[in-house]
Amino acid sequence: MKLSDSGEFELIEKIKGMFPAPGGGIVKGIGDDCAVVESSGDRVMLFTTDVLIEGVHFTKDLIDPENLGRKALAVNISDIAAMGGKPLYAILTLGSPEYVEVEFIEKILSGINSLAGEFDIEVIGGDTALSPERLMLDIFLVGESGKDEVLYRSGAGAGQVVFVTGKIGSSAAGLDILKKGIKSEKFEPLVRAHIMPRPHQKEGNLIASSGLATSLIDVSDGMVSDLRHICEGSKVGAVIKEDDLPISEECRLYCGSYGIDTLEFALFGGEDYVLMGTVPEHMYYKLRDQMKSGGCAFFPIGRTRKEPGILLQDKSGEIKKVEVRGYDHFRFSEK
Ligand code: ADP
Ligand code: MG
Repeated sequence: MKLSDSGEFELIEKIKGMFPAPGGGIVKGIGDDCAVVESSGDRVMLFTTDVLIEGVHFTKDLIDPENLGRKALAVNISDIAAMGGKPLYAILTLGSPEYVEVEFIEKILSGINSLAGEFDIEVIGGDTALSPERLMLDIFLVGESGKDEVLYRSGAGAGQVVFVTGKIGSSAAGLDILKKGIKSEKFEPLVRAHIMPRPHQKEGNLIASSGLATSLIDVSDGMVSDLRHICEGSKVGAVIKEDDLPISEECRLYCGSYGIDTLEFALFGGEDYVLMGTVPEHMYYKLRDQMKSGGCAFFPIGRTRKEPGILLQDKSGEIKKVEVRGYDHFRFSEK
């Protein structure tokens, strides 16, 4: 069977089956935003890696090298944030065709350097190799957290509030604008959301240290696809309210002007890198107030429930099943 028939998530399940978490100091192996390993005292180390491949995650004509470097690190910080941790050390692997200009690589490095500075991350190693035809940037990021503060995809209970820490759909709209070559100042925030995602590190830390939330993930593959990870990991389902989805004015305007269904971007568009999680109903206002005082956005978008599956309550109040799809690396039809 080809990978295109099985899909990315089925492959990860196979890998997980071959390398079950062997216990001991490993708190969490494959299956969350980071692996979690016991450190000294009540601390844990967090490990994550995400790769950007030319032609898959980016094309050189749509993103400049500084922002490409920043994004390579940002997507990894986002995974550490999704566990409620703090990033510390990065290992950088760079694969490039031989004809790429040294200055171009230097700009990528300077982008990584500037974001690393903002988040107090030290780049402490890596690897460099020829990659025929396609540029490849992989960052392995190490972070840390208190053992009891770490938030997993698997902690949600039924009847809890599902929240997100920022607008969704903007990045997918930004990519669409870039691909279509639309140049308009009013849509700039959408393009920025795509090429300069801000990792929600502060939000993740606030949520984790509040001790109020029960699960957390970052929205990288699409809201519904990532909510499925929480639902499956926590053995619950969810009902999302269309009216409550935080979609930016620019995104609504863009979709309206170009005849695009806003829901397509908000439900299935990826790469927003906001955090999504759950909090028990009676803790919701407390967490919302703490987020507000910390200057962080916090939007309730639905409720979890006992019955599996993800449902959408539309504007008329009608509840329907949502097709679970998002980005899958091997199933091109689901892009
Ligand atoms: P995210 O979108 O948060 O980066 P992924 O969907 O990439 O997470 O991965 C889900 C889980 O599968 C993670 O725990 C990740 O470490 C693990 N995983 C993905 N690919 C591999 C691989 N090739 N080998 C081992 N584990 C993997
Ligand atoms: Mg993630």
